[in-house]
Amino acid sequence: MSKKSRFKQTRPHRTVFAPETGEAPLYWECPVCGYISGDPQFMDGEHPCPICGATDGERRVYPTERIRRLDARIRRYNAEGDHEIVVILVMALLEAVLEDILDRIMDAQGATLPLRRMVMDTQRAIGTRIGKLFPALAGEEFEEAAAELGYRDFPYRWRQLREARNAFIHDSPFNDARETLQPAMGNDAMELLDQSYKLFVLLNNRFVADGFSED
Ligand SMILES: [Zn+2]
Repeated sequence: MSKKSRFKQTRPHRTVFAPETGEAPLYWECPVCGYISGDPQFMDGEHPCPICGATDGERRVYPTERIRRLDARIRRYNAEGDHEIVVILVMALLEAVLEDILDRIMDAQGATLPLRRMVMDTQRAIGTRIGKLFPALAGEEFEEAAAELGYRDFPYRWRQLREARNAFIHDSPFNDARETLQPAMGNDAMELLDQSYKLFVLLNNRFVADGFSED
């Protein structure tokens, strides 16, 4: 069992979202239990983590630098009205964020790095990751977890945009491929992007930071 899974949430807490600034939101992560908060006070490490009480260690920035760079590029394309690229890149970003949360849940449940790598290498299809891997780890469907956390429409809208993206990329006479992605889809993708950070922070705090595997 990993160290992370020893911490059990003892007090009710409410996840603090980072303020919206027009760029990737800035969160901090407890290095001991993996809890993530957008509360600026959480950054200094002097305020104890509400889950495990730790004050030690440097609190890491979430999302990672790689995601933040991709986010910045997406916002540039969006400002230029390039909605096709926006949809394609947002889908890529969401898949990276999903991979991250799946890896974090496996880690919290005690999976070793070689095992996590093997699972991610062999389960590459997004549909399998959402439809099989997530429920196997979380004990409930992704749609169910998203709804409970206040994002009921998110899985459906994500799937719709994936289908639009696929039809655009894999132009084929057999699937009613679109000539272009509609501008409204670029806006949809930007909304999903903003929501995705909040949803994934909530998923993290529920399935990673609360000692879920001891339930
Ligand atoms: Zn903690």
